[in-house]
Amino acid sequence: MIDSHAHLIWESFDYDRSEVIERALSNKVEAFIHSCVHTKDLEKMFDLQEQYSMVHLSAGVHPCDAHHWSDECESDILKYKDKIIAIGETGLDYFHKDCPLDVQETVFRKHCKLAKELKLPLIIHCRDAFEDTLKILREEDPGGGVMHCYTGDAEYSAKFWELGFYTSFSGCLTFKNSKKLREEARNIPLSRTLIETDCPFLAPQKHRGKRNEPVFVTEVNSMLAEIHSIEDKEVDSITTENTKKLFSLNQ
Ligand SMILES: [Zn+2]
Ligand SMILES: [Zn+2]
Repeated sequence: MIDSHAHLIWESFDYDRSEVIERALSNKVEAFIHSCVHTKDLEKMFDLQEQYSMVHLSAGVHPCDAHHWSDECESDILKYKDKIIAIGETGLDYFHKDCPLDVQETVFRKHCKLAKELKLPLIIHCRDAFEDTLKILREEDPGGGVMHCYTGDAEYSAKFWELGFYTSFSGCLTFKNSKKLREEARNIPLSRTLIETDCPFLAPQKHRGKRNEPVFVTEVNSMLAEIHSIEDKEVDSITTENTKKLFSLNQ
């Protein structure tokens, strides 16, 4: 199993980071995709990867931080292109509105261009902005990637898939009030599905309100198995293959 979206350098892991990673590794999780919210975090991420080679890294600036984008972010992404496996997370967040929407769009387009130039998949954060995200991806045609922490419907998922984008489910899929999302998930083929935690945020229902951690990706996996009425291990094998293929992980 692979946690396809985690923020392991977050300070809430400072006192037990190694235990958190070991706990996941001894419970079926074989790798992690570490999403980046700002390129200034890259040094810390590189240090973690030196310790744990199964932590794979992206580089980018989160849409809620897009007003902190600078030329230096772009030069850092280019400088470290051989150490990263994805560009992001980027995209549009119309829910939090921490950053003006036009700035989010400009920075999102920059990420698309970088992904295309470097031939790397994009990690996309999309909150209440499906139509505009789709429009920008159609115009920029970056190549492919993942719609992380997906909360949209099956119809949009199919449209993103046409552009090369997988659909990734997080702990949100397990929330009591996510009945609609579970119904949509039933109509999204596993062949285009990934799983993630987005830890330390969005802990699954059983741990709701607490710190999330990679081992809980097993609960997202189990929920998908229940939704599709198949064995946990089938979901594991399909989503792991999808993740390896998308991020070109040769383990
Ligand atoms: Zn996100
Ligand atoms: Zn994230």
